Parts: sequence; C-alpha cells; structure tokens
Amino acid sequence: MDTRTFTARWILPVAGPALKHGTITVRGEQIESVHPFGERKADEDFGDAIIIPGLVNAHTHLDLSGAAGRTIPVPGEPFPEWLTRVIAFRRSRTPEQTTADIQRGLAESLRHGVTLLGDISAGGTSWPQLVRSPLRAVVFWELIGTTVARFQTSMHAARLGTAPHPDTPFCRWGTSPHAPYTVHRHGYELAGQLPGIQAVHLAESADEMELLQFRTGPFVPFLQGLGIWEPDGLIRDPGEFLRTNPESRGLFVHGNFLPGDTPLTANQSLVICPRTHAAFGHPPHPFREFLARGVNVCVGTDSAASNPDLDVLAELQELHRRYPDVSGETLLKMGTLNGAKALGFDAVCGSLTAGKIADFVVLECVTTDDPHETLLNGAVTARRTMFRGAWR
Ligand SMILES: [Zn+2]
Repeated sequence: MDTRTFTARWILPVAGPALKHGTITVRGEQIESVHPFGERKADEDFGDAIIIPGLVNAHTHLDLSGAAGRTIPVPGEPFPEWLTRVIAFRRSRTPEQTTADIQRGLAESLRHGVTLLGDISAGGTSWPQLVRSPLRAVVFWELIGTTVARFQTSMHAARLGTAPHPDTPFCRWGTSPHAPYTVHRHGYELAGQLPGIQAVHLAESADEMELLQFRTGPFVPFLQGLGIWEPDGLIRDPGEFLRTNPESRGLFVHGNFLPGDTPLTANQSLVICPRTHAAFGHPPHPFREFLARGVNVCVGTDSAASNPDLDVLAELQELHRRYPDVSGETLLKMGTLNGAKALGFDAVCGSLTAGKIADFVVLECVTTDDPHETLLNGAVTARRTMFRGAWR
C-alpha cells in the first residue's frame, strides 16, 4: 500500500506536544506514524505551514446557509424576534432552495478544513448530501413538541424517515429535541428511545431563562402565536434535561446562561458557538468553569442565520481574542478532539495519532516559534484538507 510522509514547519497532533519540522506518515487512509524531526525523511515539505487534525464543527444548521445577511441578530433585542425572522426565512424557501443551501454550507465547511460536523436537520433533509460527501457527519433529526402527544408524533416521523437510510461508517443519525421552549419536559427522556446521540439547544438566551424560571417574558406571546404555549410542559431549570438520560451521549448547545456549576456527566458535552454568542451581545460565556471541572467543551459555528461563516478556526480565534487566558492547546483541542468525542468519532479521528484515519488540514501561514499563537492570531493564507488519506 502507498505510503507518504509529510512535513511542515509545525505539526500539532493535539494528542501530544507540538513537533517542529515533525513528520506525519500516511499509509492508505490511515495515519501510520507521527515522528519528531530527524526520525523520518519526508516525501513532501509544506514549508511555512502548520498541520492540524481536521476541524470539527459540533453544531451547525446547513439548511440555513442561504440566510446569510437576512436574519442578522440585533444585540439586546428579544430573542424570539430573531427566531421569528429565522422561521419566516425557512418558510420562504422552496425544497430546491433548501437543497442548494445545504450544498453551499457543505462546500464552505470543506473549504474551511472541517472534516467532521454535527448538523441539525429538520426532517433529515441534509442526509442525502452528507452521506455522499467527503467528510464525517452526525445528522440530528430535529424533534419538536410541547405536549407528549406532539413530541411522540415528531419521534414517529423520525423513525419512519431514518429507517430506510442506515448509518454508514461516515454518516450517522442522531436526534435533536430542539430546545426547552419547543420540547415537553419528558421529551429529552423520550428521545432516548431512538438510537444515536442527542443534541439540544440549552440556556441560549436570558429570555429562555426567564421563561423557564417564571413562565414570563417575550417567549410567552411568541409561543402563543405559534399555538404551542404549554406552560405545564416546560422544564423548571436547564439542568432538568441534563439530569434525565445521563447515560446517553448528549450535546448541550450554547449554554450561554448555563450556571457554571451545572453537573454534566462524562457522556455529556457542552458545545459553544463563540461568534454567534458575540453577535447577540451576551455577557461573557461560562465555558472556562466547565473546562476547569473537566467537562468536554467543544465548538460549533451555529448557522449563517447568526454567524458570518462556517469557519471553526475563526471561532477559536474569537475565543482567543475574548478569553486570552485559555491556552492555545486547549482551544485547538476544543476545535478538534473534543468535538470528535462529543460526536462519537474520537476513536477514528480528532487527533494526529498512529492508527487513526488521516483527516487533517495543512494551513499555510507566516509561522512563528509559537505555532498556537500563529494559528489563533495570525493570517492563514491557504488551507489544504486531507480526508481518509486523499486530498479534497
Ligand atoms: Zn443551533
């Protein structure tokens, strides 16, 4: 089998220390070995470049990729006003436009070096494209229902919709009980009956927190207007979903207002969306408290409805600007291995480790003696992505 050895100014394996002029050897679609300088002769030298594992976008909505510039968040506005614009955008899209939007988001992800993503999908519409695409994915079928009966109807549709399309080694189904304001308090537990990982938007806005605590605020008329106002079905605090199904693998997305001492189990991850967080003008994110407690924290871009693009590296750069006390090693891990762990793919990708699949990105940049600083603060001029041992 074909073996190729690559080198660059820096290799950042994530699972080990940075290697200046190290090498990575690929055999077929696997990483055969990663060596420090001097142990192996390279076939190809990328020069002033940094090699990192493929980036992981743990939370996005590819079907909103056409919303760019149309639903921009306004800091300080009631959160349901933004949701209203997103719903109006969705309703304005034809199925053909939605398919094109998904394709656009997918192409953009690949261009940015994303080799694994978690996509929230209404009706599983992104599956046909993701299952054929040169990256790994978890497609989270969105579940909504503020009564048990409505939620079970949504689960039934998910069962019917996913059954003809079994998981592949690269594309798996999950479910997404959408958020506390659209899901009955038993919904997260009920969704555990379906196979796969679960992803939930949680503690995203101050308005959501007010709704859960007091049953008041701008969410009330919003939900009444949609005909889904069921105050008795709401959870009381964001920890309620976390406490049901602690054994199932769960991604809790945003957590902008999640109390820093909220317990998460080893199966549960916190996904933060830094530039979306900034666009809404939320107060500083509590993610450092979760990191300090050993919680698996990873990053997502959310969608073009609230974010300028689907570039995971730009999310890490935003975190670096706003929270300079978090080390570059930790940030890079959040954008790679932690995301792979959250999505259940860490045994095969997420770090440059012998035996894992060769998913990595070569970033050309003016390198310095501190590769993490270069990555998080410098200008990347070009990216090349390898997925399963082939350039994409
Ligand atoms: Zn989202």
